[in-house]
Amino acid sequence: MTDANTAPAPKPGILDIAPYVGGKGAIAGFAEPMKLSSNENALGAGQKAREAYAAALKNIHVYPDGRATKLREAVAAHHGLEPERLIFGNGSDEVFALLNQTYLSAGDNIVTGQYGFLAYRISAKACGAEVKLAAEPNMKAEVEAILEQVDERTKIVYVSNPSNPTGSWNSGEEIRRLHAALPAHVILVVDEAYAEFVVEPEWETSFGLAREASNIVVTRTFSKIHGLGGLRIGFGYAPLAIEQAADRIRLPFNVSVPGLDAATAALGDEAHQKASRDLVLDWRPRMTQAIRGFGFEVFPSAGNFVLVRFADEKRNAAAASDYLNSKGIIVRPVGGYGLPDCLRITIGTEDQNRAVIDALSEFAAS
Ligand code: PMP
Repeated sequence: MTDANTAPAPKPGILDIAPYVGGKGAIAGFAEPMKLSSNENALGAGQKAREAYAAALKNIHVYPDGRATKLREAVAAHHGLEPERLIFGNGSDEVFALLNQTYLSAGDNIVTGQYGFLAYRISAKACGAEVKLAAEPNMKAEVEAILEQVDERTKIVYVSNPSNPTGSWNSGEEIRRLHAALPAHVILVVDEAYAEFVVEPEWETSFGLAREASNIVVTRTFSKIHGLGGLRIGFGYAPLAIEQAADRIRLPFNVSVPGLDAATAALGDEAHQKASRDLVLDWRPRMTQAIRGFGFEVFPSAGNFVLVRFADEKRNAAAASDYLNSKGIIVRPVGGYGLPDCLRITIGTEDQNRAVIDALSEFAAS
């Protein structure tokens, strides 16, 4: 007989962790719903990545190269980075988990934004660490608010730039100021999952800052611009000492054969990257303006999604989500991020975006 009450208790803290609930994938009655709930690439994966994935079929009985040698060389060449400083993970989520496991003991803490990405927090708590949240009164990470939370037990500060789900971003100057003010024992992780969708000239990648620093890790993912969310590949660019420490506890085969091959091919598919970016840059302002026109607040976004606030008591976020669902559109409620009156909507294909705009227009008039 199995009984939750008699099963051995997990270690302290585990049952206090709220499980991560991903964007919903299905709606009853719709064979092919429009899934705009997980910031995936509306164009899917590119042709080169698909071909590489198919070609990898002959090798799926072979364990992957845990060091990701080919992908490592390709990423290093693509971004102008030293290959030995790269940490590959099963999505960038695993890179965060590896860093947390490598640096956090019980009683230590991480600092991240009030509305910051949840994955940083879950694995930190699993290490027995505390999560300290910096206030984001303007829906974006603030240097001073982060520094206020940092203490002698802080091991890692996480900033996503741009941020999910708010879509906000920090300038290169802000990131440099934050780094300069942090004690040297704190690692600054700059999560640039949405880097390719930023247009603001004051934004800059932190790869350059990281090159000379002993305590910065910059992460990227193949899940967004490259459309390979289902294959789970992400990486971090770290000081060599951090890479070497994290590599000691990496699962031997943490990235898959098809994932490695498809990601390597995707890096060389400039046309698909451009098409993916152009689609977002074309529709992000159009979606923003259209939805604002219906009287809803839309936060400025630097990612492949927009965050919409439904402040009205009747036309609230739950009602809007239900209405969109009734039209076959799945969006992301973000109550788990402390934003119960908001929905996050991924920029989709032209048809999908028009469907969202039409549905919200009807909803506003309902
Ligand atoms: N960082 C941010 C800010 C994200 O929104 C996401 C995806 N939801 C990730 C990282 C994780 O990406 P991956 O698929 O590489 O684990």
